[in-house]
Amino acid sequence: MSIKSSLEAIKSTLPPSIKLVAVSKFHGNDSIMEAYNAGQRLFGESRVQELNRKQVALPEDIEWHLIGHLQTNKIKTIVPYIHTIQSIDSWKLLVEIDKFASKVNRIINCLLEIYIAEENSKYGLSFEDCKNLLEKEDWRSLKNIQIAGVMGMATNTEDESIIRKEFKNLKNYFEELKSSYFEKDSNFREISMGMSHDYKIAIEEGSTIVRVGTSIFGEREY
Ligand SMILES: *Cc1c(COP(=O)(O)O)cnc(C)c1O
Repeated sequence: MSIKSSLEAIKSTLPPSIKLVAVSKFHGNDSIMEAYNAGQRLFGESRVQELNRKQVALPEDIEWHLIGHLQTNKIKTIVPYIHTIQSIDSWKLLVEIDKFASKVNRIINCLLEIYIAEENSKYGLSFEDCKNLLEKEDWRSLKNIQIAGVMGMATNTEDESIIRKEFKNLKNYFEELKSSYFEKDSNFREISMGMSHDYKIAIEEGSTIVRVGTSIFGEREY
């Protein structure tokens, strides 16, 4: 199937309120342009260098999402254009993003990456860490970031009941954070969950952003 028809097939199954981030990591600019010409504007990348290379070469109205681990020494290279950083896993990262974003006078959307999978993930916050961060740190004073929601990845398994349970957990975490810290903040609204093999389950469990790569662009060649 072409990128255009894959994209259309996926979009036809998504409720209109759900955002589709096309995960283009390891795929070339020509593939991204195929999706762009089919109307896609939200793209996600995992690695900063690859993202920067693509961003300068591709149309300016692409809304870029970083979905992979971010090292503090690379923040300043993406801050002039990044729309959302979905992979916030420390307080220090928020502070540094805010610092660089203030220099370019931008407000950057940030999602708290919470681990929900059985396998212990290398990155991300536990729900406990996440609550502690919001409880103890002075995040409301960071004027150039907007904490816009949560992101999570389910266990890579064929067992739908495990995936569903983990997505339910993330949804519950979101609701708990919302009522404890963001009750009056309508910008805290995103639950980014669901990839190629599990986005349909994620939508049933309340996802607002799905991140789909393989089902749009085909297998990645590493
Ligand atoms: C690569 C990646 C995706 C997309 O995965 P596919 O299985 O290709 O759809 C989604 N989210 C994150 C965080 C990723 O790293």
